[in-house]
Amino acid sequence: MVKVISKNGKQLMPTKRYGKVRRMLKEGKAVIISKKPFTIRLLFDTPEIVQHATVGVDPGDTTGYAVALDNGKIVEKGEIRLRTDVKSLLAARKVLRRSRRNRNTRYRKARFLNRCNKKAGRLPSSIEQKARHIVNKINELVSYYPDYTLKIEINKFDMQKLINPDISGVEYQQGSLYGYENAKQFLLVRESGKCQLCHKGYKENDGWHIHHIIPRADGGTNKPDNLALLHKSCHIKGHKTGALSKLKKAKQFISAAMYNAVRYKLMDEFKAIYGDKVAFTYGYLTSINRRSLELEKEHYNDAIAITGITEVKDNVILITVIKQARKKKRSLHEATARKGRKEPNVHSVRNAKNTKEITVNGRKFALWDKVKVCGKKGYISGFTGNACYVQDINGDYIKADGKSYKQVAADKIEHIRRNNNWITERILA
Ligand SMILES: [Zn+2]
Ligand SMILES: [Zn+2]
Repeated sequence: MVKVISKNGKQLMPTKRYGKVRRMLKEGKAVIISKKPFTIRLLFDTPEIVQHATVGVDPGDTTGYAVALDNGKIVEKGEIRLRTDVKSLLAARKVLRRSRRNRNTRYRKARFLNRCNKKAGRLPSSIEQKARHIVNKINELVSYYPDYTLKIEINKFDMQKLINPDISGVEYQQGSLYGYENAKQFLLVRESGKCQLCHKGYKENDGWHIHHIIPRADGGTNKPDNLALLHKSCHIKGHKTGALSKLKKAKQFISAAMYNAVRYKLMDEFKAIYGDKVAFTYGYLTSINRRSLELEKEHYNDAIAITGITEVKDNVILITVIKQARKKKRSLHEATARKGRKEPNVHSVRNAKNTKEITVNGRKFALWDKVKVCGKKGYISGFTGNACYVQDINGDYIKADGKSYKQVAADKIEHIRRNNNWITERILA
C-alpha cells in the first residue's frame, strides 16, 4: 500500500497501483514525502474524494484483519502472526533467576517491598506484549485510511445478553438464531468444547445441541446455568434413555479465565485511542455473518465478517501475512549461559552480542533476512556452522535442490533483503 496525500495536504485513499505511482514519480507529478510508510504527495489538483472504510479485527495469537469499503469491496485482508514462545521463555527466565537468587551469592541484604507491579488491572507481561503488538500493528493499518471505523471482536459471546436474555435494545432483538449462537459460544468455552454427557470433543457430522436441564415447559429459563452442551446424537439418545436426568444445573460462577484477557486489555486500549471511531462485536455474531457471506473459516474471513458488510462484491486475492520473529538471542533464557571468550569482549555492544549472524566469504547473513534458495523465497531461521536454515513464511523448511537435509550452504543462498523482527509477505490464500 502507498499512502497518498493531495496537493493541498489532505490524505486520500491509499493505492496498490505501484506502476502508476512509479510513473507519476518519474514524470514529476508526485514526490515522496516518507519512505516508511511509503507516502507520496501529488503535485497536481485532484478531486479530494475519500471512501469510508471499515477495518475488522479478530484479535488473538493470529490476528485476522480486513478492510472493507461501504460498497462491499475488500481492499486488503491478512493475518498478524504473533510469537507464541514468549510466555515459556519468560517462565524459564523466572525459574533461572529464582535459582540464582537462592544460591548464597549475595553481597548485600535482599531488598524487600521493592515490587511495584501489583497495580490493579496489570496483566502478565507475556499478555501485555501481545496486546501492545496488536495495537501497534492496527494503528499502522488504519493510518492508511483517511476515513475509517474500527470494529473489533472482543469476546466469543456476549455475557450481558446471556445473563439477562430478555433485555431490550436494538442489538438484542435479532431473533432466536442469535441468542442460540451466543449461548453455544458461551457453552463451548464453559465446557472446554466437550459434551456434558460423553465428555468428548467436537465430532464431524454431529453438531452441537443445547439442552435445557429444567425443561422450558416446566419453567426452565434460557440462562446459562440451565443450559447444557451436548452432541446432537447424545442429546437425542439421552432423551430416550433418560440419561439426561443426571445433569445438574451448572454453578452460576463464571471464572475470570473465561474472559480472554488479551481481548479485554485491547478493548480498553482501543477505546482510549479511537474513542467513538471504534466499535466492539462478539464472536457469535461473526460466525453467523461469515456463514451468510459464504466464507471459509479463516482468521481474515472472520475479520471480513466483523466489518459487518452484507455482501462481498470484490474480494482481494492475496492475503498479507505479518509475522513476528525472534531477532535477538538473550542468554538469560537459557539454562546453560554462553561461556566466556578468550579475549575479553570490550568493543561489541550488547545489542550486537545478542544478534546472531554469520559471515561467509565476506557475505553477512543475519537472522530472518529474506533470501532465495533454488528459486524459492524464504527467511533465514537459524545457523549451523557456515550453513543456514531457511523457512518460508509458514515455517516450513526450504531445502536446497536434491538435498534431503535442512541445512543450506551459504553459496546456495541469494540475498534479497534484511528484515527486522516483523516479516511481511503477500501470499495466495
Ligand atoms: Zn456427546
Ligand atoms: Zn433436551
